[in-house]
Formats: sequence, structure tokens, C-alpha cells
Amino acid sequence: MKKVSIFGATGSIGNNACKIINESSSRYDVLVLSAKNNYKKLAINSKKLNARYAVIKEKKYYKLLKAELDGTNTKCLCGEDELLSVASLKTDYTIASIVGIAGLKSAYNSIGNAKNLALANKEALVCAGKIFMKRAKKLKTNILPLDSEHNALFQIIQNDNINSIKNIVLTASGGPFWNKKIDFNKVSIKAALQHPNWKMGKKITIDSATMINKVLEKIEAAILFSLDLDKIDIVVHPRSIVHGVVNYIDGNSLMLFSKPDMKIPIKYALNWPNRVKSNINNIDLKKIKSLDFFDVNAKKFPSLGLFKYLYDKKIYYNRLIALNASNEIAVDCFLREKIKFKEITKIIKNTLLKINNKNPKNINDVFDIHEEASKLSNIYVNKLST
Ligand code: MG
Repeated sequence: MKKVSIFGATGSIGNNACKIINESSSRYDVLVLSAKNNYKKLAINSKKLNARYAVIKEKKYYKLLKAELDGTNTKCLCGEDELLSVASLKTDYTIASIVGIAGLKSAYNSIGNAKNLALANKEALVCAGKIFMKRAKKLKTNILPLDSEHNALFQIIQNDNINSIKNIVLTASGGPFWNKKIDFNKVSIKAALQHPNWKMGKKITIDSATMINKVLEKIEAAILFSLDLDKIDIVVHPRSIVHGVVNYIDGNSLMLFSKPDMKIPIKYALNWPNRVKSNINNIDLKKIKSLDFFDVNAKKFPSLGLFKYLYDKKIYYNRLIALNASNEIAVDCFLREKIKFKEITKIIKNTLLKINNKNPKNINDVFDIHEEASKLSNIYVNKLST
């Protein structure tokens, strides 16, 4: 049996992972399931999978979780410190699916303890990518990307020599607005949360609407595959069937296509390096008939223009943390109706230009810079709303 832990077991990715494990429960021994505050779903998933530990981050839900799991074999824990202590349990697969920098510590702590770390938390790589990958290499933890595009690229690239790759292409659905005439000053929360193809959490759905998601994903790909940013293209592909393309120096290109269903990359990761049968059908080319691709419109989506602030290597890693921190704050403020949709990118740009020019040397530096960038972003938000 393969030992598995899931950090963030009640969100879209974590819940799908629980479903996949439940379908072949004899193959997996579930050690840890964690959640921020959804104690009910955490209890349901822990019971189904007979998890050894259920960890709730918000301490006020601990008693409620305990009551739900009374009489089961699952031990209840709470708070970040207890989550970090069970992140040190040895696993075959750990799924890191807590969204944002909130998931960085637990993902980082599982390096060296997990044989394979399936990473859905792109923000962890954006903020601490270099430090993260270096540690994973040293402590022999395989990083398996769960982001659909990166999972596709990972499947294609495998052990290819990086010098044989000319460039790679990340496909983008374009989110809800790419082909709509819309005033970004008047975007409602409801409209921004309506993703055409993927059912996901709120943060990533807003990131898709601004297309910041592709900015984060381009950085994520650069870190995962050791490529320069200018070797990564973004192409709009509204149906989200083709997930990634690798162009090789010899004129060959490989692309991966499948239904837009996150269970496919999750199942792939949970069985890597093997493949197992799935009840999800392959794409029928006769039904698809054609595939459409379009250039991205950087004029319409100003977030894509943020790359011009990311080319100076001396301040690159520092700015990546600032970019993520200010985006997390801006998205949160948009969802609380404190700022307009259009202001999300403005806040990020302002923070990028104001952050101190000091690259992080270790994981503590990452959190310090995150704090500083969050403060700068909040100051600007307050300016905008007065
Ligand atoms: Mg993606």
C-alpha cells in the first residue's frame, strides 16, 4: 500500500484526490488529511479514507471536528504547528493543494519526507521556487506538478535533455472575458467567478479572469523545467483540451491533450511513474474535428505586461514573492468588494516597483519579503479606496 497525505483535502484538488483514492482504497494508506476551516468535509473525507490524522488549521473548529470523528480511528489535530509536525511523516505521495503562500510551509516541510510531492500550489513555486527545487533535489523528493498544463509538460518532457527543447507553450482558456467586450471597471464578482471550462476554487478562478494565472504559471514552468521566461509562450485555447506543447530543436513538437478534468493529472501523479486504468474517456478526434488557438491580447489583459518587471535577475526572486503577495491581497480585496477588478493588476505593479531589492536566501527570507509586500499592497489598497 502507498502512504498518502493531502494538505488541503477539502478544496477542489484535494477533494478530487480523495475521490480518486476512495475509488481504489486498497492501494492507499491515508496518513494525513488537512483543511483550513471546512471541518465537515474534512470529517467526511477522513471517515471515507480511514485517515490516521485529520488536521484543521483554524483552532475554533477543532472541537466540532473531534465531535464529527468521535468513535473513528482518526486522530484530530489543529493549527499550523501540528500540521507541520505531521508533514514530517514519511509518505510515498504527498499532495500539496493548499492555495497561496499559506501552503508553502507544509509543502516545504514535506520535502525529504515525501518520496513524491504532487504540487498543486503554484504560489509555493512562484515564491520559493529556487530554494524549493534545490531542497527537493538534495533530499531526493520528486516534484510532480498537478497544475494541468505543467502536468502535461512534465509527461512530455520526462528525462529529455533541456538543451533539446526550443521552447514550450502553455495553453490558456482565456477565462470568462477573453473574447467578450467588457469594461474591466465594471466587472462583477459573479461574472469573474464564471469560468467556462474548469470548476475551481475562488482564488484561481479570479486569477484566470485577470489572466494572472498564466503569469504565475509561466513562472511556475520556468522553475519546474529550468527554462528562461522567454522560452515559454502562452497561447489561448478556449476549449482547454490541449494542455501543453513542447517544441524541440529538431522541428518535432509534442502536445498532450485530454478532457479538462483535474482527476486526470491527479490520478497520473498518484500512480507515477506508472499509468493505471481510468473511467475517463480519451478525446475522440472525430468528434473534436478542429482545435482553435489564438494569440493572447496583452492590451486587454494588462497582467500579461507585468513580465517587463521580471527580467532583471538581480531582483527577480524578490519580485516574484511581491507579485504573489500583492495578487493574494488584491484578489481577496476584490472578493470583498474593496477594489475594482481593474485595480488588481495596478496593485501588483505598484508593489513590484516599491519592494526592496533584496533576493531571498532561505525560506525565512521568503516570508519576510512576503510580509513586506503585503504591507505595501495594503497601503496602496487603502489609498485607492479613499
Ligand atoms: Mg493551470
